[in-house]
Amino acid sequence: MNHVEILGVPFIHSTRNEFVDILHQRIKQQKKTFVVTANPEIVMMANENKGFMEYLQAADFITPDGIGIVKAAGWLKKPLPERVPGFDTMKDLLSLANENQYRVYFLGAKQEVLDQFIHIVSNEYPKMEIAGFRNGFFDLDNPQIAEEICGLKPDLIFVALGAPRQEQWIYQNIGKFDKGIFMGVGGSFDGIAG
Ligand code: UDP
Repeated sequence: MNHVEILGVPFIHSTRNEFVDILHQRIKQQKKTFVVTANPEIVMMANENKGFMEYLQAADFITPDGIGIVKAAGWLKKPLPERVPGFDTMKDLLSLANENQYRVYFLGAKQEVLDQFIHIVSNEYPKMEIAGFRNGFFDLDNPQIAEEICGLKPDLIFVALGAPRQEQWIYQNIGKFDKGIFMGVGGSFDGIAG
């Protein structure tokens, strides 16, 4: 896949639909995948913090989350086709999970937000299998959380801890898993919970 690099961060050159198709193939192949959706703040954070840049470099795909990245690519004369936002991509993947009865795990947000979010998505995507969920207030270095999630064998793991915590958690734990699409989704659970 082609990339467009902005301040050292390589963005996928793909439409949202094309990207979701790629992820669907990888789910079918059980290929572990680390997805970062990055806005300008994330690019700046990566340039100020070497550790965070290391997490981004470990990602399989970085998508342009936000018009600022698409505009910057245009100014650099390396245009990107469109925004591929985390929130919309998560919803596309939930539809895919519903159509194919994939197993999904949700990690993050406050307990009451998470409960409301789970209530909404289990009604909206009734055939999706909810492998489990846990709120986002735990010690990032606690290895048991990943071990427990791993045992539930999810196909998709959405991590809503905000940046950089969500990327750090994925970076530190993805090695323990045999499969799964891991994606940091920031405040998306709050966005759906309302
Ligand atoms: N969050 C969490 N654990 C934390 C800090 C934040 O689960 O230790 C959750 C927070 O409740 C919210 C989500 O992370 O649901 C995104 O937080 P924020 O809006 O700060 O991140 P952004 O969307 O700006 O990346």
